[in-house]
Amino acid sequence: MRTSAHDVIIAGGGPTGLMLAAELALAGVDVAIVERRPTQGRVGGRAGGLHARSLELLDQRGIVDRFLAAGRTWPKVSFHAPLDIGDFPTRHNYLLALPQERTERLLAAWVEELAVTVYRDREVVGAACDAHGVDVVTTQGVPLRAGWLVGCDGGRSTVRKLAGIGFPGWDASTGWLMAEVRMREKPVPGFRQGASGRHAMSLLDDGETVGVVIAGRDPRIRSEPTLQELAAALKDVYGTDFGVHTPAWLSHFNDATRQADAYRKDRILLAGDAAHIHPPLGGQGLNLGMHDAVNLGWKLALVAKGSAPEALLDTYQAERHPAAARVLRNTIAQGVLRRPDDRTAVLGDFVTEMLAMDEPRRRFGAMIAGLDVCYDLGPGHPLLGRRMPDLDIVTDAGPIRVYTLLHDARPVLLDFGGAGPLRTEGWDDRLGRVTAICDAACELPVIGAVALPPAVLIRPDGHVAWTGDRDGLADALATWCGRPALPA
Ligand SMILES: Cc1cc2nc3c(=O)[nH]c(=O)nc-3n(C[C@H](O)[C@H](O)[C@H](O)COP(=O)(O)OP(=O)(O)OC[C@H]3O[C@@H](n4cnc5c(N)ncnc54)[C@H](O)[C@@H]3O)c2cc1C
Repeated sequence: MRTSAHDVIIAGGGPTGLMLAAELALAGVDVAIVERRPTQGRVGGRAGGLHARSLELLDQRGIVDRFLAAGRTWPKVSFHAPLDIGDFPTRHNYLLALPQERTERLLAAWVEELAVTVYRDREVVGAACDAHGVDVVTTQGVPLRAGWLVGCDGGRSTVRKLAGIGFPGWDASTGWLMAEVRMREKPVPGFRQGASGRHAMSLLDDGETVGVVIAGRDPRIRSEPTLQELAAALKDVYGTDFGVHTPAWLSHFNDATRQADAYRKDRILLAGDAAHIHPPLGGQGLNLGMHDAVNLGWKLALVAKGSAPEALLDTYQAERHPAAARVLRNTIAQGVLRRPDDRTAVLGDFVTEMLAMDEPRRRFGAMIAGLDVCYDLGPGHPLLGRRMPDLDIVTDAGPIRVYTLLHDARPVLLDFGGAGPLRTEGWDDRLGRVTAICDAACELPVIGAVALPPAVLIRPDGHVAWTGDRDGLADALATWCGRPALPA
């Protein structure tokens, strides 16, 4: 039997796998997705929206308008209490309410435009690494071979298990039952605090379907929920089962919180829920997976094409493991604040009071929106390691936004003048070089206004790798843009 070969195979075409595939395809890598589901159809109730940094990432690739057109903006994020982010220095100072299924379909359409191979209705069940690549065994079709395999196959990741990567963390302490159903009786939208936790009910856009979340369920339940179980739970909480019928779906989830102890083993990497799981408080999981994908994509592309040493992949774990660990911790904290005892409620009141103050609101809001991430690239200008703001600039070609320069996912050296000659010989084939004037204030979330450095090297993920107020451009280029090409 012949083997189909690709530079990279991604197990799992959920949001993380789709985003990663697009990033690799933009970088010119032959990438294929192996996806268990026959279509991109929904899998129960999951993410409800995209946060500011995710929207910025989509803006960096020139496709954010597709998502904005499909959802509704809301100026608040949530950490225990609603936090207004309407005054944040980003073009996307809101949460975009958009069901996960819509997000996935839009990402899948983009991936299709980029001509990524997608093997659907097929599951990764085996993987064996050698010095040059990975043999990937799937449930049907020809065997696959790739230089690299990335597990984007969700919290129960087969790839993580095949690679023998540990998944330590916190066992579940509580569970929820979630469903979308019809009701013969009038629903009571809103939250209801009961002895077992905070329950919720909402009428969906079609005016007939009701979303229900029942808290305080046994987290050890492994079986699929039934309509009878939902009816009984509603009766316990609301005193009536509302005559529930015709479920669109029912699911259990819990607050288990775990993180892979390595994001890479040999030629196998993990991203998204395969690398970290946590309760959905604050609505961060899908967003976190997209951020992993945008951090990993260009690095893996350089390594897969032989342009950078494998050591570049170590920076994926060094940067993304702490970012996810912080999200895990903030969801644990939010979960504890929701415990249904009256003493915890007192603590919750104080936290709400604190979050009404400006500085905590800005800090916690930026954390949930994903805008405060700073990769440790050493001491220096406040921009170093942080996301580059989407400044209005003027180039020889006219006015433009900085994020427009990142559409093709290449690094950009942006010269505002005054840094002296910027030598880039050896990297010019893979680097965008732009000279620009910028009169706009450079303002960072939480930190505030900072002086614009004379030049910045922006990585394809939008993070600043070097600022022109210091030496070291050649080192930064060698670290983040791969080996210099030899002179012809
Ligand atoms: C109730 C609930 C509410 C949530 N709300 C939010 C929210 O508001 N905001 C937010 O950001 N996040 C939210 N999340 C989390 C979010 O749904 C996940 O973080 C997100 O789906 C992770 O994306 P992923 O691509 O990493 O994994 P998944 O979405 O799990 O995708 C994995 C894909 O891999 C496929 N697959 C699995 N195994 C294999 C295999 N062996 N071979 C091939 N394919 C395979 C699956 O079919 C699937 O398509 C919520 C989750 C839940 C449960």
